[in-house]
Amino acid sequence: MNNKVVIIGCGNVGMSYAYALVNQRTYVNELVLIDLNKTKLEGEVMDLNHCLAYSPSKISIKIGDYSDCKDAKIVVIAAGANQNPGETRMDLINKNSKIFKSIVESTMKSGFDGIFLIATNPLDVMTYLTFKYSKLPSNKVLGTGTTLDTARLRYIISEYVDISPKDIQAYVIGEHGDSEFVPWSNASIALKSIDEYLTNTEKEKIEEDVRNSAYEIINRKGATYYGIGMCLVRITNAILGDENIILSVSAYDEENKIYVSTPAIVNNTGVKSKIFIPLNLEEKNKLENSINVIKDAINNL
Ligand code: NAD
Repeated sequence: MNNKVVIIGCGNVGMSYAYALVNQRTYVNELVLIDLNKTKLEGEVMDLNHCLAYSPSKISIKIGDYSDCKDAKIVVIAAGANQNPGETRMDLINKNSKIFKSIVESTMKSGFDGIFLIATNPLDVMTYLTFKYSKLPSNKVLGTGTTLDTARLRYIISEYVDISPKDIQAYVIGEHGDSEFVPWSNASIALKSIDEYLTNTEKEKIEEDVRNSAYEIINRKGATYYGIGMCLVRITNAILGDENIILSVSAYDEENKIYVSTPAIVNNTGVKSKIFIPLNLEEKNKLENSINVIKDAINNL
């Protein structure tokens, strides 16, 4: 079966995703890279192809253009500006919304009928714009959302409790941005409430550290990319493998007509469905606040 993926925007994030793909067993067997910087792209494709002798997967990797999107299963967009130190994700809205219209329209002109997976920030707004410009059904457009924040949360909790992050049932939900939050009332480890492992002070500190993770990394190395590369691979494999995996991707919220993250089932249809999570009053207010932040950003465009 031909499982073609096109990456539009092959900077830190796009290439970390590509490198993570060739490093793992993946359903992807054709990878096409598109970027404005053709010279750098030539070097990237040469370098990636030199991995193939030792890669666990067989993948054809090449430079392409928008006509390659026609028969792609997934188009991943990681094009656009990233945060400078001190900048929020929302500060990128004007720069990145401008380039998205032409990227999405060029993709659709090819006859593309697959799934869009968005990584560019501000994530929930860019995912919404992709839905709007592509006119695809909402389930076929999704963003990485809070999958990265959830990975960061599970890692930090694992450091406190000395249990693998893979066995921690906790999510970050809401905007992939400063209004995101942890619905602790639903968090657990091995069916035991998280309250049996962590104090309230510890939970507050963990949540703050998760929210500040990107800022801390950007202050030290200028950008974040390995973590998001791994999230993109996880989502890609969930789609191509029809896995019905639960991930906190940014998915369409019918009620509010925006994209926002809550746990959702991901398979070869894209987002199969969102999962209803019971929230306490404080958490409901936080989610509503996050939804309003995204709505306001879209309305002010
Ligand atoms: P980068 O500057 O390294 O790469 C961006 C790339 O996009 C460049 O190679 C540039 O040439 C290309 N580009 C720009 N306009 C283009 C266009 N019209 N068509 C094709 N290519 C184009 O930036 P990065 O560090 O890779 O970050 C990319 C985006 O990912 C940023 O918006 C960043 O904030 C976001 N990001 C998201 C997450 C997440 O959790 N979703 C995590 C980290 C970064």
